[in-house]
Amino acid sequence: MILAGHANFQTPETPGVIQYLTKAREEFDDRWSKNPKSDVTLDDFDIKRTLGSGSFGRVVLAQYKHSKKDKFVAIKILDKDQIMKQKQVSHTVGEKKILSCCQFPFLVKQYFAFKDNSYLYIALEFVSGGELFTHLRNAKRFGESRTRFYGSQVVLAFEYLHFMNLIHRDLKPENLLIDHRGYVKLTDFGFCKRLDGRAWTLCGTPQYLAPEIILSKGYSKAVDWWTFGVLMFEMAAGYCPFHAKKHIKLYEKIVAGEVEFPEHFSPQLKDIVRCLLQVDVTRRYGALRNGTQDVKNHKFFASVDYIATYQRKMEPPFVPDSGGDEGDANNFDEQKEKSLDIASKCKYEEEFIDF
Ligand code: AMP
Repeated sequence: MILAGHANFQTPETPGVIQYLTKAREEFDDRWSKNPKSDVTLDDFDIKRTLGSGSFGRVVLAQYKHSKKDKFVAIKILDKDQIMKQKQVSHTVGEKKILSCCQFPFLVKQYFAFKDNSYLYIALEFVSGGELFTHLRNAKRFGESRTRFYGSQVVLAFEYLHFMNLIHRDLKPENLLIDHRGYVKLTDFGFCKRLDGRAWTLCGTPQYLAPEIILSKGYSKAVDWWTFGVLMFEMAAGYCPFHAKKHIKLYEKIVAGEVEFPEHFSPQLKDIVRCLLQVDVTRRYGALRNGTQDVKNHKFFASVDYIATYQRKMEPPFVPDSGGDEGDANNFDEQKEKSLDIASKCKYEEEFIDF
């Protein structure tokens, strides 16, 4: 099978990776063409508590009633009215479809998707360690080996996504969850899109926006590598490389691309961040002729065994306290609970037909 647009991955040192990704892409395409529907409903779950909130609803911890073993899931509940109001129908339908097709250790897994008269539901594996964001704020900043550990998993996740022709567009510490063993899972695919050419939509999180998005130039997968540079900086520094109270000032700084490094950054860390935070896309690591290889082979990541990382055989630098119980949500802040208000007639049936 010929994979258009992926010649840049065919470097001689990675035949095993190419073979793996090519097979993964065939499986992804197969799932993509089928887009199966599930007959699960909300009655199949016991809802325990709210874990967090997103733009169009919230995420709850729930237990699937029909599993022999306790099966806990995180159900993302999306309010159709909110989605319509914010004109996010295609992003929401896309999120469900993309998540149902992805299978990779560092991406959150989708078990079921279903809908009722008022809401859309995406049942995901419950990732019990909480947000990387919370752990970063508690630790103030991560040491370089911990930054490398999480970073190397994001590199592999992006390598997989980009090979599937997907851009994520919303990498940030809030969207990386830590599992019970201490590995990361990328979540929130609300802005993820499958594309061959360029995208134009302004979306993402202000401090993580790539310059070409701000400049409305039309953009590609390289925006994810920019966000990866911001993430690497933030994990090791404890704050973002670009910050300002007003968005306009923030965007000026991003477009100028001048980064001031904390003194404690090693030369290797400074260099990888510099290579990623290149305003000029034709010089940005991850988006050059050798693709992800440039990032994987950078000297900051020299000690990483990517195969062992993929196989989750490395010893994580931090293991979250999950109370020993599979459904323990102590890593998530208490949230105000709200009951669901399900209408007696189906709302926007046509608009959400593909969900
Ligand atoms: P989202 O709308 O996808 O950004 O999710 C909002 C919040 O819900 C996240 O920031 C997490 O705190 C929580 N959350 C989302 N997905 C999961 C999951 N699979 N497991 C545990 N918590 C989750």
